[in-house]
Amino acid sequence: MSVPAPLPPNEAERLEALRGYDILDTGHENAYDDIVRLATYICGAPIGMVSLIDEHRQWFKAVVGIEATETPRAPSICAHAILQDDLFVVPDTLEDHRFEDNEFVTGEPRIRFYAGAPLKTPNGHNLGTLCVIDQVPRKLTDAQNQALQALGRQVSSLLELRRYSSELRERIEVQKRLERCLEEQLTLAQNLNLELERGQQALSQANQSLAALARTDALTGLHNRRALTDLLSSAFSFASRGGLPLSVVLLDVDHFKSYNDTFGHPAGDDLLRTLAELLRREIREHDVVARYGGEEFILLLPATDAEGGCWLADRLRKAIETYDWPLRPVTSSFGVATTSHATPEPASLVEAADRALYQSKRLGRNRVMHHVTFAANEPAMATA
Ligand code: GH3
Ligand code: MG
Ligand code: MG
Repeated sequence: MSVPAPLPPNEAERLEALRGYDILDTGHENAYDDIVRLATYICGAPIGMVSLIDEHRQWFKAVVGIEATETPRAPSICAHAILQDDLFVVPDTLEDHRFEDNEFVTGEPRIRFYAGAPLKTPNGHNLGTLCVIDQVPRKLTDAQNQALQALGRQVSSLLELRRYSSELRERIEVQKRLERCLEEQLTLAQNLNLELERGQQALSQANQSLAALARTDALTGLHNRRALTDLLSSAFSFASRGGLPLSVVLLDVDHFKSYNDTFGHPAGDDLLRTLAELLRREIREHDVVARYGGEEFILLLPATDAEGGCWLADRLRKAIETYDWPLRPVTSSFGVATTSHATPEPASLVEAADRALYQSKRLGRNRVMHHVTFAANEPAMATA
């Protein structure tokens, strides 16, 4: 009958520490084998082992002289050895009441002598032993004692090294996982950025469309009055800088009110749309046409002097007059103004064209009038 060793006071922590080394049931390693061989050689013992005390068994990391890889914990003499701080020596098991009935004493491997050096962790747990065993009672010399303890410390160092390297491997794994995570985050951020850029592009396109819409006349699709203000001011400064003339043509449909009254507002709209198309077709590439309001249109003719402006206005007048209007003939009146060194600002150019247009109406409509000069109270001049 074996007398099992009492459990160490901190057994649960000790077992947890043992698991932390992740060594149980691992394969042979030369370093451990060599130390066991050296221990048996120095101590002159036939059997030796690195024994780790698990919950219900002792497991041998290295063993010399017997064929076992593990035994139950209950009859293990090493389970007694781990209760000691120093070397645990049993000179004759048959003389020790704890072991006289031990199955490893009375049966194979017939242990009579045992000496085990505890394998200490830095936290003070004894995980097992480096032990030597003989089948005859005996003693160790002081030198053998010290050698066995020194070799035990070597085994402990090997165990620490193992724990450190496994911790290091784990840290490297964690680091790799973090790096992968970081890469994923980076890709995600790049994708998000891309999405954001696309969103911003869409937004700025939408804004551009909105801005364009705000500067477009809904009925005719021409520039509206707001756009005209900017276009006129840039055409005006371009002309001033280059010393080139700029002509402005105002066009007003004759008797449009009566057209609306006779054929209805939608027919009036159709007329305005057709007229816009006609104007768009007739002007040159750098000219600008805009709806000035109601049935009035305005043209900006860069690099065009009074003669050129009147010529183009008259060509438009004839085109409108001769167009095959579906409901009744349509005519229009024109007022033209051209910049000169005396033109103070863009607005005064339009006012001058308006005055010429007024003259055109007053003189009977369907004609082109030009405002010659900006000198004060200068009368407008009829050109057609
Ligand atoms: P005049 O020969 O002197 O230019 O006379 P008129 O009848 O053309 O001029 P008036 O200013 O009296 O009338 C302009 C009309 O244009 C009045 C208004 O109802 C009409 N009008 C203004 N905007 C629109 C529009 O978008 N669509 C339509 N169908 N009519 C419009
Ligand atoms: Mg009008
Ligand atoms: Mg009119």
